[in-house]
Amino acid sequence: MDKFDKIINEYTHNYSNDVIFCLEEYSRNHSSLLLEKTFDIDEDVDYVWDNGYRQLVTDYIDNPARFYKIANNAQTQKFYSIKSSSLPSQFAIKATNNNPIVINIGLYRSNSYQPNNKVIELTLNYSAVNYLNITGLDNSDSINEVPQIVNEFNEESLKASIAHEITHWLEDSLHNSKIKKALQQYKNQINKSKLSNFNKNFIDVFKLTSGHELESVIHEIKQIKRNVSEDKWNNMTFKDLASIKPKFNHYFNKIQQKLDKDQIQDFVKKFYSRLNREGLLGNKMRNIDLDKI
Ligand SMILES: [Zn+2]
Repeated sequence: MDKFDKIINEYTHNYSNDVIFCLEEYSRNHSSLLLEKTFDIDEDVDYVWDNGYRQLVTDYIDNPARFYKIANNAQTQKFYSIKSSSLPSQFAIKATNNNPIVINIGLYRSNSYQPNNKVIELTLNYSAVNYLNITGLDNSDSINEVPQIVNEFNEESLKASIAHEITHWLEDSLHNSKIKKALQQYKNQINKSKLSNFNKNFIDVFKLTSGHELESVIHEIKQIKRNVSEDKWNNMTFKDLASIKPKFNHYFNKIQQKLDKDQIQDFVKKFYSRLNREGLLGNKMRNIDLDKI
């Protein structure tokens, strides 16, 4: 797992056991069952998958060299594009009325929702494409070295990414541009204090503490649970969840690296209580045998 994290996430930090430990510790001591609402966007996720994203994976498998060339030259490229007006869910229809966007599918540095450009970008994992080189998923040496890399190209994992970015857009469009405004406020604050380093670190801390990222991650987990039987879900730990979707390691790592102790505790509390309210906590996530983590 360490080597995999290093390649995929460009972080040298170890698997974030501390955060996972906090989550499990917290889950042992709390149990409230209020239900809060998430967006029901399975049909939007399927639409995006069926209208470009699935094809992108096929394109990659058929001709990985084409993708490698783009990544190796540090470039990006759009392959497919969907207007938000095509999305079928009631949430997407309302959101399009307020704030129509375009969903571009291709090879980008990362998945993103960009409120000012009115764009969602969905990609294959840029680092994975680069690492697998011209032979792609046929690169048996690379796959043997980091077998988890294959998960970056799974339908399950990519659909979770669609859910994540669509949720950012819905939150923004249905709740009075709150993400766009928060980003602007944050920029203003930085400008006022005359700090020149409005850099990635600020964005990271903003994302991790604002709650928007958490909301999208909750939808991502909900999307993963869609494909997992109730039995299997009840046998899964937080660690298992992080192995299905490698990105969660990255997320937990970032929390550990970027936030201070109080912020981490606050995150764990919110994360756990949101999972609980959505019925996304499996039995093993509730009752943890600390010897078996
Ligand atoms: Zn996000």
